[in-house]
Amino acid sequence: MITRSPSDCSSKAPSVSHDYMLETSDEYPNGDVTHIRHVSKSLSDTDARSIGWTMVGYGHSTHKTRKVFNRSCLGVYQCPMCNYTERPQVPDRRSKHALPKPTETACTMHRSALEHVPCLATLMVIHDKEAGTVHLMHKGLHNHAIPHPIRGNIDGKKQLEAQVKTAPEVHPKQLLIGSMTRESASNIHAAYANLDRLSYERKKILKGTSIGTTLSAITAFKEQEGITMISSSSISNQDGHISFQTNFMKEQAAMAKTCMKSDSVHGFV
Ligand SMILES: [Zn+2]
Ligand SMILES: [Zn+2]
Repeated sequence: MITRSPSDCSSKAPSVSHDYMLETSDEYPNGDVTHIRHVSKSLSDTDARSIGWTMVGYGHSTHKTRKVFNRSCLGVYQCPMCNYTERPQVPDRRSKHALPKPTETACTMHRSALEHVPCLATLMVIHDKEAGTVHLMHKGLHNHAIPHPIRGNIDGKKQLEAQVKTAPEVHPKQLLIGSMTRESASNIHAAYANLDRLSYERKKILKGTSIGTTLSAITAFKEQEGITMISSSSISNQDGHISFQTNFMKEQAAMAKTCMKSDSVHGFV
């Protein structure tokens, strides 16, 4: 008779405790795990395959509809005396367990040179475009701090996209600050705390929205003529609408004599 103890289960995450031991997630896979992503066709290849750790790609192959990419972690640069970190840069020579480019940055507080914390974790990314899936097959533990994020994760991108499409007139600085009804972009994802990154992402979202160009043309016209035309707008996918109302239209609607007012009062408009 074969008996199995719970520790035989191969899907069980290793239970090594460490200061930087991070629970595995889609953005930061950790341990011997596989995460499966369902990706839409509209998502770029880079976004579909991206994760939070800094990794070097050292090989790829194609099998029918699947593309396979091999990556290994570059660890992180950290001050020996505090939590100040720097995101490592991908080296020119790409190989498994390659070391990142050296850094000359010093800790802003201690002025000490940053030390490289190496990492042996590897990742195999299998992107099947036909099936719309990305398998993240991860091995090893990242016993180092999270490098500063430079791009938002998939959920973060979706949230930002909804914000930008709903209010395309809101500028990056306002997105960053947030409002009573709009969450600050930096709360959506830490990568959006960087204004340059946020501006870049916003531009990309608006570019991909055909109505966005129409809207910017109208906005430019409005500014040129100094008139108010758009009374409200929303170009999100589900409930898109734009309401146009010039001052002249407003005045007409407000005039007691016009049939429009009496019709609107009686529920005909
Ligand atoms: Zn320091
Ligand atoms: Zn690592």
